[in-house]
Amino acid sequence: MYDHLNTLSPRPVLATPSATRAVLERHGIHARKKYGQNFLIDASVIEESIEAAGITKEDCVLEIGPGIGSMTQLLSRAAGRVVCVEIDTSLEPVLADTLADCDNVTILWQDILKTDLRALCEEYNGGRPMKVAANLPYYVTTPILMELLSQKGCFSSITVMVQKEVADRIRSGPDTKEYGALSLAVQYYAKPEIVTQVGAHAFFPRPNVDSTVLCLRAYETPPVEADERFLFALIRAAFNQRRKTLANALSHGFRYEDRTLTREEVTQALRALGLSETIRGEALSLEQFAALSRELASGQA
Ligand code: SAM
Repeated sequence: MYDHLNTLSPRPVLATPSATRAVLERHGIHARKKYGQNFLIDASVIEESIEAAGITKEDCVLEIGPGIGSMTQLLSRAAGRVVCVEIDTSLEPVLADTLADCDNVTILWQDILKTDLRALCEEYNGGRPMKVAANLPYYVTTPILMELLSQKGCFSSITVMVQKEVADRIRSGPDTKEYGALSLAVQYYAKPEIVTQVGAHAFFPRPNVDSTVLCLRAYETPPVEADERFLFALIRAAFNQRRKTLANALSHGFRYEDRTLTREEVTQALRALGLSETIRGEALSLEQFAALSRELASGQA
């Protein structure tokens, strides 16, 4: 099925069960659980992701966690340039082998969470927005997404494989059990779209969860108006104690710089917005959180 790709390069497509097994055996390595290594063995998933992200030779792509290079190889063929950040230095000889003919790929051997993403974007794409593509290590999905999203102007789209349950949380709305700080944070920065659902059979070794490829298209300006840091402090405090009423949660748990909130202040702001004094944070939409943050921030003056 992937013969058309194999005619473009002397190297066979890596994202198949047999090619992956052969690479692991040749280098005498195993997938490392502590780094969340589940290698993709279904090239169609990678092709769908590349298509959804609209990656062309004009693009400079950041790949997080290239692993043995399964996705990198196909990204290299589609993009102008690919910059990978990989934490597991034991994969150095593997990638030197599997990506030997990919001369538009640069690999940085470091932790993505300790990487200066703005400097990376500046160095490799002259400060223009890059696209992100990754089969993310599931143990650090949320911090990685938050780091990527909060770098305004650095990434125009983020197309990533995540645990299905995380994708459900990201896309959920008020009054559902999945809804929370992650849903609101992602929806503030980007429009999330499902690219495809992926079963465990698409990976080696098989994870014990289902997965989803999500494409997050970054907004040029956020869909709501608010002081971003104040808004996020409010959202965090609301969901840290999600079973409490908002007035309770915020009067006990909100702190932004030197600012705290009294129950009276929150109750008044809720009333001004026509919301019940006993409402919980999980019932508020992003727009309502933004309105509340504007109301409370203006009370500061
Ligand atoms: N892209 C490969 C694929 O699809 O077959 C591998 C994906 S595997 C799910 C996740 C990759 O992320 C692994 O290569 C792992 O070593 C790497 N990784 C884990 N934590 C990382 C971190 N903090 N920074 C950079 N890479 C990391």
